[in-house]
Amino acid sequence: MWSNDFNQKTIGSKAAYGSEPTFNLDQVLACPACDLLIENKPVQPGEKLICPRCDEILLAPKSNSVNHSLALALTGLILFPYAVFMPIMTLDTMGIENSGTIFDGIISTWHTGYWLVAVILAMTSVAFPLIKLFLIFWISLNLKRKRIPGYLPQMMRIYVHSDEWGMLEVMMIGILVTIIKMHHTAHIHYDTGFFCFTALMLTALGSSLALDKTEFWRQIEHGRIQG
Ligand SMILES: [Zn+2]
Repeated sequence: MWSNDFNQKTIGSKAAYGSEPTFNLDQVLACPACDLLIENKPVQPGEKLICPRCDEILLAPKSNSVNHSLALALTGLILFPYAVFMPIMTLDTMGIENSGTIFDGIISTWHTGYWLVAVILAMTSVAFPLIKLFLIFWISLNLKRKRIPGYLPQMMRIYVHSDEWGMLEVMMIGILVTIIKMHHTAHIHYDTGFFCFTALMLTALGSSLALDKTEFWRQIEHGRIQG
């Protein structure tokens, strides 16, 4: 993967810094973790190109990435309103039934005076996951239709930065903790929202995993050169 020869002859040579570069930039890859320059070798789906210095995964192509991301993001968007506005579960304590949705949870947190918590809850369980799903859906849809509007690279950059902000898993842990704590004192009935939320979490996770960033960037760049 890393060749000393390659480093000395191309990167280290005057030509690499001069006005007449002797290599094609497409043939070089910089490790995002340690900045090592590595020869960009073709990697097949299922294989990985790993940095020889820090073991960072540089390329891990996924097969049919655009179609898989598009299908999963669309499923997530369809599930979204059901997961947020349908009751998650009903707690039956001595004949008194209580049910709630994620949206109710945010509103009641706001009314109890924990405004900051309510805002964080709304951002992490509704706004960020929704924005992320929409970005994946819109970018994949455009790539599938082979249309690269001028704003698509900007959208892709926002997606890359928002990738770490998926908090649905944390919300799911909160729901599971409630179930574990309450199951001795109340009868728990799982409602539609619970199944929709679980499915939403899995499709959101799946769409992120299916999205091959390198391939998406390559198609965006290729489309812009063509268009
Ligand atoms: Zn590295």
